[in-house]
Amino acid sequence: MAGTESTPRQCFVSPAPTRYARDASRLAGSPSPRARTVNAKCWVQSAQAVPRLGEESKSPRADGQCKVMDSERPGSAPFGRGVQACAATEGSVEASLRADGQCKVLARFLDHRFCREQKRKAQIMDYRKVGFWQLVMLALLLNFVAQTIHEAGHWTIYETLGREPVWGFSSLVQIWGNPPPLHPNEWIAMIAPDGEKGWLRLGSSPSKTEWIIMLAAGPLASLLGVVFGLSLMRWNRNPATKQMGLVLALIGSLIMSQYYLRGSGGDEYFLAVYLGIPKYIIDIPFGLAFIIAFILGVWTLGDWRTRFKWLGAILLGSVPAGLFLMKANDLVQAQVNQGNPLFQPLLGWSLPVVVVNVIVFLALWIWWKRANKMYYSSIKTAG
Ligand SMILES: [Zn+2]
Repeated sequence: MAGTESTPRQCFVSPAPTRYARDASRLAGSPSPRARTVNAKCWVQSAQAVPRLGEESKSPRADGQCKVMDSERPGSAPFGRGVQACAATEGSVEASLRADGQCKVLARFLDHRFCREQKRKAQIMDYRKVGFWQLVMLALLLNFVAQTIHEAGHWTIYETLGREPVWGFSSLVQIWGNPPPLHPNEWIAMIAPDGEKGWLRLGSSPSKTEWIIMLAAGPLASLLGVVFGLSLMRWNRNPATKQMGLVLALIGSLIMSQYYLRGSGGDEYFLAVYLGIPKYIIDIPFGLAFIIAFILGVWTLGDWRTRFKWLGAILLGSVPAGLFLMKANDLVQAQVNQGNPLFQPLLGWSLPVVVVNVIVFLALWIWWKRANKMYYSSIKTAG
C-alpha cells in the first residue's frame, strides 16, 4: 500500500485530520502537473496516515468535500446525473487507491472541484431546507386537500351508487336532533345506534352493505393520500413536489392518528355498529398505520431542528385551516337547510366547497411555481 512506503520530503504526512483536510483542500485547486503528482502521493499517504476517527477519516474522503454526495441517492435531485457522476468519481478514487496506481488517483482527485459544486447544488435542492413561512402557507393549503381527499373517498361511493349526496367541507350535509330540517322530504331520516334522530342530505337510502363500503372509503382514502404523499417525497425529483408530498403525508397522518388516539371518529363508530364488531378492531390497525406513516415522515427530516421547524409550521398552518373548515361546514349545513341557491350541489358537492377547492388548487400551483423559480435562481447564482 502506498501509505506504508517511506515518506517523500514534500509530503505533509500528519495524523491530524485538520492538517490532512488542509492538504486535501489545497489539492482541489489546479497545481502544475509536477505538483499534482507529488501532491497526489501526499494525499494518498496522508489518507493512510489518518487515524480512524469515525466516518470522517476512514476513507480518503476525509476532507469531507464530497461526503454528502456519498449518502445522496443517485438521481434524487434534478441534478441526479451530476450527483451520480460525482459519487462514481469518488468510488473510482477508492478503487484506484486500493489497486495502487497513483496517476489514476490523481486524475480522479482533480474532479473534487466538480464534486464541490455538485454538493452546493444538492444543498440548494435539498427539499428539507425551506423557508418557515413558505412551509406554513403550504400546510394551510394542504389541510384543505387532506380533508377533501377523505371526503372524496366517501363521496365517490355515494355518487357512483347514484345516492345524490350533497357534500360539505368536512362531512355529508346532515342534521342531528332538534329542530328537524325545514323540508324533511329532501332528506333521509335515520336513527343513530344511541337512539338519536338525524337527517342526511341524500336522494335515496343506501343498503347496509353500501353504508359499510362508503363509511370505510373515507379513512381508506386518507390512508391512500398519506401513502401518495410519502411516495412523492421518496420518488419525485423536484424539491417543491417533495415538500408538498411530505407536508400532505404529515398533515394527513397527524390528523388521523390523533383522531384514533382520542378514540373519536364517526365513521369508525357507525362502521363498527354495522359490522357488529368492537370499535377498537377498526381503530387499532388504522391508527397504527397512520402513526407509522407520521413517524416515517418526521424521520426523513434528518435532524431535530428541521423536524421541529416543519412540525411547528404544520401546526401553525393547520389551526386556521381547521377553524375555517369547521365554521364553513356549519355554514354549508345551515344554508343547504335554508335552500340557499348558492349552496346547491355541483356533482354532489355544495357549490362553495367546489369554489374553495378550486382556489386552493390554484394557490398550490402558484406556490409550486414560485418555489421552483426560487430554486433555479439560487442554482444560477451558486453555479
Ligand atoms: Zn369520514
